[in-house]
Amino acid sequence: QEGKNRYHLFDMAQDIALKNQHEKLIRIEAALQDNEFVLYYQPKVNMVTGELIGVEALIRWQHPERGLLPPIEFLPVIERHELTINVGEWVIDTALTQISHWQKLGLNIIVSVNIDALQLQQAAFVDRLSTLLAAHPDVPRGSLQLEVLETSELADVKDVSKIMHACIELGVGFALDDFGTGYCSLTYLKRLPVNLIKIDQSFIFGMLDDPDDLSIVEGVMGLSKAFELNIIAEGVETLEHGLALLALGCYLAQGYGIARPMPAIDVLEWSENWKPDKAWSAYDLNING
Ligand code: C2E
Ligand code: MG
Ligand code: MG
Ligand code: MG
Repeated sequence: QEGKNRYHLFDMAQDIALKNQHEKLIRIEAALQDNEFVLYYQPKVNMVTGELIGVEALIRWQHPERGLLPPIEFLPVIERHELTINVGEWVIDTALTQISHWQKLGLNIIVSVNIDALQLQQAAFVDRLSTLLAAHPDVPRGSLQLEVLETSELADVKDVSKIMHACIELGVGFALDDFGTGYCSLTYLKRLPVNLIKIDQSFIFGMLDDPDDLSIVEGVMGLSKAFELNIIAEGVETLEHGLALLALGCYLAQGYGIARPMPAIDVLEWSENWKPDKAWSAYDLNING
């Protein structure tokens, strides 16, 4: 009797969870229609020269009641759901519109967009990307970059590599995001056509206190040299983080210590005013690079 009763309760809980999930999906779909999503942009800089090399587009939900919501609040809800693809296309389209706009203002930068592993592996992805690019003819080749998470979901490296090569034909570049946290980093590096690796911020947070994290950062630096890849550190929050990275020869960085993600309208002014700290700009690339 007790067992049966418990089973019944469990069933109800699951039913409610499913209904909640369904309601959330409908709400997110409406948000997409009603233009409630917005892209924020976080600068990526050269810590020595102060040059703005690009920005990463990060999605936010301008929720009418709850305010500005970070992606963790809604992206997990649509994971593995078709809606992920629609949101992903909205992100690429919006980033392309922004690139043309900045181009007209004389701001020539690479904009990177995060892309779900499932979206990338979708059969029609290359066609859709090509259509989106064709709709923005004034976007220069090479100015759109896709940040792919190094996860186990990039199942078949051979297939993924093919898709990536087709995107590269279209003038789109690739970065491996959160590098070092996934499962098969080395296979990826060897077999995927990426231009840039982004060292995961967890290693940067830890590198000043934890020798293991420092070793990992050093190791990834070594790999980037061996594979002749550009490397950028994420999560650079302080001057000291930057200095430790420069000492290892990593001069590209992104993080709160440089700038937080900001609305598109603020980027141009930021880029005209930002200067690296003297301790950073004093670093000599010829000795350390
Ligand atoms: P990510 O691509 O690794 O992006 C870096 C995240 O770290 C961003 O959080 C950024 O705001 C935050 N961050 C940057 N610098 C610092 C720092 O110095 N300290 C700390 N503590 N955090 C920093 P956000 O915007 O909440 O995004 C979280 C994740 O959500 C992203 O991680 C990315 O995986 C995903 N995401 C964001 N936008 C999109 C999107 O448009 N599409 C997809 N598929 N995923 C997205
Ligand atoms: Mg990213
Ligand atoms: Mg990352
Ligand atoms: Mg991340």
